[in-house]
Amino acid sequence: QKGVRDMLADAQMRFDKAMPYACGPILSGKVKAGEAREQASPADTARIVSTVTEADAGMVDAAFTAAHKAFDAWDREGGPARAAILRKLADALETDTERFMAILSREAGKTLNDGVAEVREAVDFLRYYAAEAETKFGHADRLPGPAGETNHLELRGRGVFACISPWNFPLAIFVGQVAAALAAGNTVVAKPAEQTPLVAFEAVRLFQKAGLPKDVVQLVPGDGKVGALMTGHPLLAGVAFTGSTEVARIINRTLAQRDGAILPLIAETGGLNAMFVDTSALKEQVVDDAVISAFGSAGQRCSALRLIFLPRETADQTIEALKGAMDALTLGEPADPATDVGPVIDTEALDMLNAHAERMAREATILHRAPLGDELKAKGHYFAPLMVELASLDGMDREVFGPILHVIRYKRSDLPKLAAQLAGKGYGLTLGVHSRLQRFLDSVREAVPAGNTYVNRNMIGAVVGVQPFGGEGLSGTGPKAGGPHYLYRFAAERTVTVNIAAQGG
Ligand code: NAD
Repeated sequence: QKGVRDMLADAQMRFDKAMPYACGPILSGKVKAGEAREQASPADTARIVSTVTEADAGMVDAAFTAAHKAFDAWDREGGPARAAILRKLADALETDTERFMAILSREAGKTLNDGVAEVREAVDFLRYYAAEAETKFGHADRLPGPAGETNHLELRGRGVFACISPWNFPLAIFVGQVAAALAAGNTVVAKPAEQTPLVAFEAVRLFQKAGLPKDVVQLVPGDGKVGALMTGHPLLAGVAFTGSTEVARIINRTLAQRDGAILPLIAETGGLNAMFVDTSALKEQVVDDAVISAFGSAGQRCSALRLIFLPRETADQTIEALKGAMDALTLGEPADPATDVGPVIDTEALDMLNAHAERMAREATILHRAPLGDELKAKGHYFAPLMVELASLDGMDREVFGPILHVIRYKRSDLPKLAAQLAGKGYGLTLGVHSRLQRFLDSVREAVPAGNTYVNRNMIGAVVGVQPFGGEGLSGTGPKAGGPHYLYRFAAERTVTVNIAAQGG
């Protein structure tokens, strides 16, 4: 009998055999072919994963027109009927887990652990929002009110939602946004990130085969220019965006400058995520949790640890242990089960990280670099995990999206000032605290706003329905993905008040 590893290796081999795959816009269920560009694997740039046709202005317009036409019928289906369809999509995706893991490893450089977690998350989003659609949409809730009248509140879709997603969770976030918009009664024009068009393309094709009506989701691959066409389209009713703070700002400005209706933007963006450690913390746990939080997924999680605050009494010991743990990381081919850290996504990411490392060499102290062989370096976009020590927080104003951990050594009496300075940067995504003292935990939490706080554990955790995820300030608008309030921003709320006497009953 075959073990799990053999099954995964078989699925990868089957996937690899047919590379490169053609992908492109899907308009009303039809795949549009045209002039295509090649998309290479970040792990092995000699391997072409897909040939991609990107959407042009005419296609974006056709996508909105078709989605707009489909809206009324989809909205009127009601929550329970939409939930039944979303559950079919979840089943189909779950059944196809190994193939999607194979796509994720080649197209996005995801390790097996990250790949399986990502497919699972996408499936969870579909089932969670299905349950939400069932309980919240498609009926009116009676509200308490004065005698002589009835008051009801109902939730309906808004129209056509633009769903714009990043490359770092190219399946889970893509599917999560689309599932939420659909569950709430909207139809969708969706754009995956330019680095990861294939996984989104395959997901939409699978969903349409599994029973998703052809017009309710339109796929328009492309870069920011296609995104701008979407956010400027006259038939747009709202935007779900996950990506960088900079692009969220651009979209916000575009929406503000439109004529006509005022549209909602649900934005989930980057962070300047920190872990605060005190002298009561357990060193081994700090090291384990810091290493996985900073270097897991090659640091390409929005929740990843960027800054660790170590008390000067124990900092040297912790830093030595961190160095050992970094040396024990295996960098390499994502589909190899032994790999802990895969590549970063593209040359742009690699150049940005190299430039930051050079700046750190000038302005800060390089503490340690994980080993990286020349062979890997030549093969793909590999960046060796790096640990640096900063003298202060000055100049750390932006998210550095990759496997670089910044250490700050603190004196107990300086901590309030440092925490306030960090809070002043304006982000509010994840926060880690390692301490056995409630007082320390409370003081850090009070000083540093964060959407998700992780205490005495790693900072990876956005389990759908369990750890609703999202940030504040520069990190996002809320409400939290995978949480009980998420669908409200996708919905129109309608209150109906009826005078019973005048109604004749
Ligand atoms: P990005 O902002 O560069 O791109 C995100 C998406 O926006 C892509 O599809 C891109 O094509 C599109 N886009 C670019 N310019 C646009 C424009 N002018 N108008 C409309 N759309 C446009 O981000 P990325 O590099 O793909 O992803 C990494 C970023 O995402 C990081 O900052 C990370 O922290 C963030 N992120 C946040 C969360 C969260 O839940 N808070 C989750 C994952 C990723």
